[in-house]
Amino acid sequence: MRIAALGSGSRGNSVLIESGRTRLLVDAGLSGRQMARRLGALGIEPAAVAAVVVTHEHRDHTRGVGVAARRWGWPIYMSSQTAAACRDLLRGEEEIRTFERETTFRVQSLEVHAFLTSHDAADPLAVTVRDPASGLKIGIATDLGRPTVPVRNALRNCHFLVLEANHDDLLLRDGPYPWSIKERIGGSRGHLSNRMAAELAAELHHPELGGVLLAHMSEECNDGPLALRAVSRALAAKDYRGLIEVATQEEPTPLFDVAALRARALGQEQLRLFGDGSA
Ligand SMILES: [Zn+2]
Ligand SMILES: [Zn+2]
Repeated sequence: MRIAALGSGSRGNSVLIESGRTRLLVDAGLSGRQMARRLGALGIEPAAVAAVVVTHEHRDHTRGVGVAARRWGWPIYMSSQTAAACRDLLRGEEEIRTFERETTFRVQSLEVHAFLTSHDAADPLAVTVRDPASGLKIGIATDLGRPTVPVRNALRNCHFLVLEANHDDLLLRDGPYPWSIKERIGGSRGHLSNRMAAELAAELHHPELGGVLLAHMSEECNDGPLALRAVSRALAAKDYRGLIEVATQEEPTPLFDVAALRARALGQEQLRLFGDGSA
């Protein structure tokens, strides 16, 4: 199982998951041209994508979904409430497959579970994607004001996590936005701060967690090193030695191999338990 963010931030989000011949996108918030360019940079033809799952209707998650569905025939999986909120993006020729939240559905070889988050959209969802053949599980949770109990439960036992680290509390407080926007971003239906992302990552840590990708970073109220430091510090307290990376708006990340990262994390765990200091 492999994963890459094609891009992430307030101007567009899309994450690719690949398992065998199945390629699935979570959100299509970049233009059709950008998605084609970035998939191409990872060696993937747009027509080889099996489907796109849309988490909620905000434009930074849906900008390219209509055009991609029409151009490349991607079926669009979205909840019925999100489909209703996306009507202006669709022309009726797209293949829409609606689902209800808290359900699990299959896209070729992958199992997708969609669950409710706390965010100011019609039906805001986060997803886990599981590959039944390998048992590997990826969790993707951006656009959440708070890591609620259902979100934390759903994200347990993931081997790779994409977590929102949207803003630094102080940079948001002192930043350029009007007070109403600051309240929205920092509120319980807004976006997750570095501090909350760090706490969530530490809580979700387990020995088989191989990678954490920080996503949906604010360009005004955050920067990569700050987010990395907050989350790295929290995970270091758990003896985590897996990957921590930041997804950016402009370029795709590499394709991360989840099985290899899990094996690396486990190997290091075993070294820590049995090997360190004895040689
Ligand atoms: Zn968003
Ligand atoms: Zn949103």
